[in-house]
Amino acid sequence: MNMTSRQSFLGENHEEVLAMQTVGIVGLCGGGSHIAQQLAHIGAGSFVIADFDFVEDTNLTRMVGSCPKDAEINEQKTTVIKRLINTIKPNTKVEVITDSWLSSYDMFQKCDVIFGCVDNYLERSNLESFCRKNSILYIDIGMDVHSTINGFLISGQIIVSKPDGVCMHCLGFLNDEIIAQEQNNYGAAGYKAQVIWPNATLASTAVAQYIASILPWSPDVKVPEMIHYDGNRHSLIVSSKLANLRAKGCPHYPGENNELD
Ligand SMILES: [Zn+2]
Repeated sequence: MNMTSRQSFLGENHEEVLAMQTVGIVGLCGGGSHIAQQLAHIGAGSFVIADFDFVEDTNLTRMVGSCPKDAEINEQKTTVIKRLINTIKPNTKVEVITDSWLSSYDMFQKCDVIFGCVDNYLERSNLESFCRKNSILYIDIGMDVHSTINGFLISGQIIVSKPDGVCMHCLGFLNDEIIAQEQNNYGAAGYKAQVIWPNATLASTAVAQYIASILPWSPDVKVPEMIHYDGNRHSLIVSSKLANLRAKGCPHYPGENNELD
């Protein structure tokens, strides 16, 4: 028995495959911290992480790896996540961007996958567009808490945007109107409700899809482009419109699109 024997079903060479991976994570709070933690444990080779923000009291309820001292000194979120990764795996290379990811986008060009754990549409659109241009797998997660007549509804989604597949515009998740509306309301959105377990569920599912795409453990393992999370019914449901969208192909990134599988 060695350290990785319990995950050896991922393939004889899984350690090598994982060690070759460079993982980008943009946004390191609720969702991104879980992704960093899991991929450090499983053995991803190196990381490029970006977040311009600092730890506050309100992050401690959901940011894996953060502790009260970090909030007290307003530690940079990237410092906390680098520490988390290197506590789990001391020699893992972690490159840090403490500004917008766009300021050092060249550092992301070498990534094999980029996880977008951000809370706005424009940034998601920029990330997806960057990944398409550079043929990088993009995985986006997000959650929301909506108030209803009787209480609250927790919802979310995991989107896998493959370089030659349907995009977030195809999926109806992004469009010019949503992005423009967001820009007009910028600053007026108020605080967004967040809680730890939906973030963990979404992050775990995103990690599962990423590992499924590089180390499929069975021929029937799927990597669907969109999964809806319903946190009230505790369900993860693959979007029902994927077959149609795949058949149509993506018109939004024409130069970058090949035949769809
Ligand atoms: Zn598209």
